[in-house]
Amino acid sequence: TPLASLSDDDLAAFLTEQQQAYAQLQATGLKLDLTRGKPSSAQLDLSDELLKLPTTTKDRAGTDVRNYGGLEGLQELREIFAELLGVEPAQVVAGGNSSLTMMHTVLVDFLLFGGVDSPRPWSQEETVRFVCPVPGYDRHFALLEELGIEMVNVDMRDDGPDMDAVEALVRDDPSVKGIWIVPTYANPNGAVVSQEVAARLASMPTAAPDFTIFWDNAYAFHHLTEDETKSADIISLCTAGGHPNRPVVFASTSKVTYAGAGVAVLAASVDNVAWFLRHLGKASIGPDKVNHLRHVEFFRSAEGLRQHMQKHREILAPKFAAVDEALRTGLAGLDIAEWSHPRGGYFVNLDVLDGTASRVVQLAKEAGIALTPAGSSFPYGRDPRDRNIRLAPTMPVLDDVRTAMAGVATCVALAAAERLISERRAGR
Ligand code: PMP
Repeated sequence: TPLASLSDDDLAAFLTEQQQAYAQLQATGLKLDLTRGKPSSAQLDLSDELLKLPTTTKDRAGTDVRNYGGLEGLQELREIFAELLGVEPAQVVAGGNSSLTMMHTVLVDFLLFGGVDSPRPWSQEETVRFVCPVPGYDRHFALLEELGIEMVNVDMRDDGPDMDAVEALVRDDPSVKGIWIVPTYANPNGAVVSQEVAARLASMPTAAPDFTIFWDNAYAFHHLTEDETKSADIISLCTAGGHPNRPVVFASTSKVTYAGAGVAVLAASVDNVAWFLRHLGKASIGPDKVNHLRHVEFFRSAEGLRQHMQKHREILAPKFAAVDEALRTGLAGLDIAEWSHPRGGYFVNLDVLDGTASRVVQLAKEAGIALTPAGSSFPYGRDPRDRNIRLAPTMPVLDDVRTAMAGVATCVALAAAERLISERRAGR
């Protein structure tokens, strides 16, 4: 039965039960961490062949990869990612280990120099705003905040952002310069942007001629089921819509090989790529091509990468199942929480009773379970409903995921009971 429909006495009894369960939880002295979407060491082990690669120092063309040069990245690796992302190799830049760094660089280039279609650098605009689908990736928001770019929230749904809201924001206001999109298995709600939403993003009229879609496809290949969802081809859609320079696509092997020593890529129109490389050329003489070659030898092909991802899936799928199982066992029918059932990616989105997310995170912390701070998935860390919690079950071993999530369910139930009781008291 829904918790809210219990009589005062039954609710009080439920609270007592949860308090006892919580006291037991605290007594077990846990020390578990579900805060960040990191691969587990078992996942990292899957790529340890990398430590013995590359077997040669020359690329296919005979160039010595140990030397300077090749700003755009190793051709063989660009070809693999071109196939994976559905673009031409000339539209791909292979860089360092972090796609977030590439996003930062692109934003800074827009601010300092302006993009291909910019009337002037963004820093010369009075205000620069970004549309931010929420809940979203905390580091996207932190990056904009640091650069002084204002954020406007729109709701993230199961098929992508609320497009009526997005279209209304971009149509008349030239200060709205961009939008974050995590198109596949979004951080944190697991949504996949539908073809229809992608087509609207690609064709919508924008007051800013240099409106840019930051298409962060961090989880493009990170399927948790047999259904290997294909991401919408935003570059072709935008080109067809007459806005070839609108999207910049990012991806990386952070959660494919090594999170700290993978390869990040950027894909965009040939003009955007030339613009990016022109500015990058002032900052670098070339990327780590030894690492590029190592990855080429490791994957061999796009298909090789896809097959490698199935090994991750075998490790990850049981952890996501354990999260669902624990939440169902602890919370089903109480009508105090909803959670996502992601078919890929790294997160489960948990929405608890309005006004209780911070309390849940605090209770969990005091029981030795570290959760991402409440509000993290919103600009400025502010969740207007204080209900959203991002769960990251990939890093701990399976048993610890089970234990932690059973504990989280107790915290959610306890916080909800406390809240309902105090609301009833206040209402009298
Ligand atoms: N984008 C999203 C949506 C992410 O969730 C993450 C990692 N948590 C990143 C980017 C970071 O990517 P990288 O390691 O390539 O910098």
